[in-house]
Amino acid sequence: MSISVAKLEALMDNYGTEERIRGYIRRCVSFHGFFPPGLLIGVFMVDLALEKLGANLDEKLYAVAETPKCAPDAVQVITTATIGNKQLRIIDTGKFSITLNRGSTEERADGIRVYVDATKIRRYPTLDLWYTNDPRYKRVDEKDRVYDEILQAGRSILSWERVKVSVPQKAVWQAVQCPVCKEMVPDYLVEDGVCTSCAGASYYDRSGEALHQ
Ligand SMILES: [Zn+2]
Repeated sequence: MSISVAKLEALMDNYGTEERIRGYIRRCVSFHGFFPPGLLIGVFMVDLALEKLGANLDEKLYAVAETPKCAPDAVQVITTATIGNKQLRIIDTGKFSITLNRGSTEERADGIRVYVDATKIRRYPTLDLWYTNDPRYKRVDEKDRVYDEILQAGRSILSWERVKVSVPQKAVWQAVQCPVCKEMVPDYLVEDGVCTSCAGASYYDRSGEALHQ
């Protein structure tokens, strides 16, 4: 599900969306490839968390996204936290929520957790139907209305709280060779003497041509 850039710009004009938010939104469109409603909500979530944390955009921040859907991309585009630099973790609770915190040498760091508030979103009936995956939501006819309501709502569908976030400790590890596939893996990913793929969790089957030597 997406919306044309022209329609999105017109809606942002209509609701007087702040230039800061508009900049985030434009960069998210270019990164994500299209613009689902969840990414738009994600932009407002990250913006709110940054403000409550009192953080600058170029500061080294850590993040957790509680869903793999859309929200992680808003974090990656707007903040310094990415999956690849390990400053962004996805801990899938199924909740549309993100947490931002600064680095810490302690076991726990002060963070700001932002989430979509089930009570507040009810004030926006079409958005609520879409968000709750309600069968009464008319995907084609009401699509633009969802974007309209998100921009109208801005951060007013969100709640936030101060939290203590557990800081992952750096693992001490060594690479070992799996005796079955002969590939190298960190020792903490060895199960019963073999890599997790050879232990049965592989996401692929070999299907033909290969170069092994
Ligand atoms: Zn293996």
